[in-house]
Amino acid sequence: MQHISETQLNQYQLLLLNSLETLRHSMTDILMRSNHTCHNLSAQQLQKISTDDLIELALKIEIPSITHKISTMKSIDAALNNIQIDMYGLCSDCEEPIEITRLNIDPTTQRCLACENRYKKQKHNEYKL
Ligand SMILES: [Zn+2]
Repeated sequence: MQHISETQLNQYQLLLLNSLETLRHSMTDILMRSNHTCHNLSAQQLQKISTDDLIELALKIEIPSITHKISTMKSIDAALNNIQIDMYGLCSDCEEPIEITRLNIDPTTQRCLACENRYKKQKHNEYKL
């Protein structure tokens, strides 16, 4: 059940890859400037390691400014994986197709509108408790 055309899928993939690349660059920059003793990798090496490894490394170093970048990177990575296994654009909760308008706003969207609202409500309630 694929509601996204091949052309659209390719566009999303391109968008995702571009933002991942940008993120990787700024992350490498931050890591290089951090002077943290737990990594001895050169910028060149950092550019070659997998996104997973880069995330792992960044998590170890715990620089507040990259925490947000890491979570964005994770969702981009997840979306790219979903493209690979033909599950892109399906809601992670109910597995129904996610509204194209939502994907156009944010290609890493993982939930349909109904589930997103339910999820937000749940989080909000947790927060209140
Ligand atoms: Zn859903």
